Amino acid sequence: MRKILIILVSLALMMAAGSAMAYTEGSYTAQAQGHNAPIEVKVTFSQDAIVDIQIISHEETSGIADTPLTRIPEEIIASQSLEVETVTGATFTSKALLEAVKDAVAQAGGLAEKTTDKAPVKAAEDEEITVDVAVIGSGAAGLAAAAEAADAGAKVLVLEKLPFLGGNTLICGGLVKAAGTAFQAEAGIEDTPGALADYWYERAEGNADKAMLDLVAEKSAGTIEWLQEQGVTLGGLATSGTSLVPRMLGTGVGGSGFIVPVEAAVRARGVEIRTETPAIDLLTDESGAVVGVVAQAADGHLVTVHAKSVVVASGGFDRSEEMKRKYAPSISDEISYSSIGNTGDGIRMAMDVGADTVFKDGVIGLRGIRPTSFGDAENSWVWSPTLLVNAKGERLLNEVIDYPIYHSKMLESGSKYFYLIFDSTQATSDSLAVLINEGYAFTSDTLEGLAKATFMDEEVFLATVARYNELKGQEDADFGKPAALMTGVGEGPYFAVRLVPTTIGSMGGIKVDLEARALNTDGQPIPGLFAAGACANGDLFYKEYPASGSAIMMAFTLGRIAGGNAAAE
Ligand SMILES: Cc1cc2nc3c(=O)[nH]c(=O)nc-3n(C[C@H](O)[C@H](O)[C@H](O)COP(=O)(O)OP(=O)(O)OC[C@H]3O[C@@H](n4cnc5c(N)ncnc54)[C@H](O)[C@@H]3O)c2cc1C
Repeated sequence: MRKILIILVSLALMMAAGSAMAYTEGSYTAQAQGHNAPIEVKVTFSQDAIVDIQIISHEETSGIADTPLTRIPEEIIASQSLEVETVTGATFTSKALLEAVKDAVAQAGGLAEKTTDKAPVKAAEDEEITVDVAVIGSGAAGLAAAAEAADAGAKVLVLEKLPFLGGNTLICGGLVKAAGTAFQAEAGIEDTPGALADYWYERAEGNADKAMLDLVAEKSAGTIEWLQEQGVTLGGLATSGTSLVPRMLGTGVGGSGFIVPVEAAVRARGVEIRTETPAIDLLTDESGAVVGVVAQAADGHLVTVHAKSVVVASGGFDRSEEMKRKYAPSISDEISYSSIGNTGDGIRMAMDVGADTVFKDGVIGLRGIRPTSFGDAENSWVWSPTLLVNAKGERLLNEVIDYPIYHSKMLESGSKYFYLIFDSTQATSDSLAVLINEGYAFTSDTLEGLAKATFMDEEVFLATVARYNELKGQEDADFGKPAALMTGVGEGPYFAVRLVPTTIGSMGGIKVDLEARALNTDGQPIPGLFAAGACANGDLFYKEYPASGSAIMMAFTLGRIAGGNAAAE
């Protein structure tokens, strides 16, 4: 989304910073390539200071980029230095912005090296706070818990590790699955929570907690209504996963459609939210009950939070290489598109105070092209229904199968790379130019040349294409792709786009009961400790993610249960 952000800065701060820099007075524009498009800035200089930085245009991701685009200009002006910290989780945007300002400094005749003296960092005193409920994490589960706890009359504090709220919920597709909703009734679709729970259970091959799936499904329509009450706009009833029942709704704008309104609704309840304040340890009393949490603010000072109860809602662990190797070895080499904060902190903290865990080596699996964001425009090629082959050149699946199954088939194939094959009617050098340039896509006038460019086994690849073309326009006897999508591989030039399996979330974590209480290894609740969302989803899934919209529904629903029960503790 294109956004114009005008940042006005305080002259008083500038005066306080004091500087003897020499600039040619005036305003200068400059730009540098951001994550999605150039970031353009207008920087105004007096003879001896940078007095104003305006962001003229950018296309950075809403929510994630807000902090660097606001904070970095303020810090540059306050310190009269370009040596300010980049914002964790938004490094690319931060660096681009700094680069653009540096260019403007050069245009103004300023000495960039003089403005790169380290800005002073001031650490505040350690502090102690007392609340009723402390929530760790500000995604779907954390914000839902905070809202419910506040509604129950509790004084609530939310701790968030990153500079912005939302975690994976912010960057998700904005899809949520429920049964028995008003949307379904209006569309004349008959559905029941029992049918949804059965679907989830079948996709888990019976290796999930049926009572917990029943609970979430039973409450799912209520969660949809609750989200609407918080200001979330939903629509676009559709199917997802392997079920033909339309149950999935969407915000239409991705995860910000959840986080922006729910954050506002939580703040309106008087809940305090501290960003850049990661929880680092849970506090226990001599009986083993959890009585608070220790966090660390960005300047290093410790925040000791005394609380009657703590809700761990810190998301999954697929951004931790160590935890992946230990608890989800099948995906230990995979790129994760999850939020950078999802390193399993809450799971580790709960284990430290005796919590039991559930890990089944499952994952929310997807595929991607670049190691960076899943949301890149070029990444949309991954949804192409054209022929997919492994590194040897063999076909392995129905290319329009649901993405978690696609991911599993990639893993089963044992190949490291995969190639989507396009003929001249399905792609062109122009449309793939960026990926060809970066080495993620390959082209040749001939199929033999394409096999060489990608190091496939030429004979195997040619045989695969021949067989695929034999099935053109027919029911796919090999893998079951619909006949209409069996379009074959036609005339060259040909293209191959390299895919790798990736993850968008982990499955497994803290063992909880139906009250969202964390359980110890004897199956007993740990007093004062609750958990919900991706850090506690082990009993909801087996190895394969069942369908889009499931995880968000589970996180909001169980987050609400955790928050309500934490307030009653
Ligand atoms: C690209 C992508 C698309 C997706 N699309 C969908 C979709 O459309 N529908 C769907 O159902 N699911 C989707 N998912 C999965 C879904 O987004 C997650 O399962 C869900 O958001 C998890 O919510 P959560 O509240 O448990 O965790 P998160 O939303 O990840 O929130 C956890 C928060 O805790 C913070 N945190 C971590 N450690 C600490 C600490 N020590 N102290 C304080 N805070 C901490 C994190 O920074 C984060 O903000 C998608 C995931 C991705 C990555």
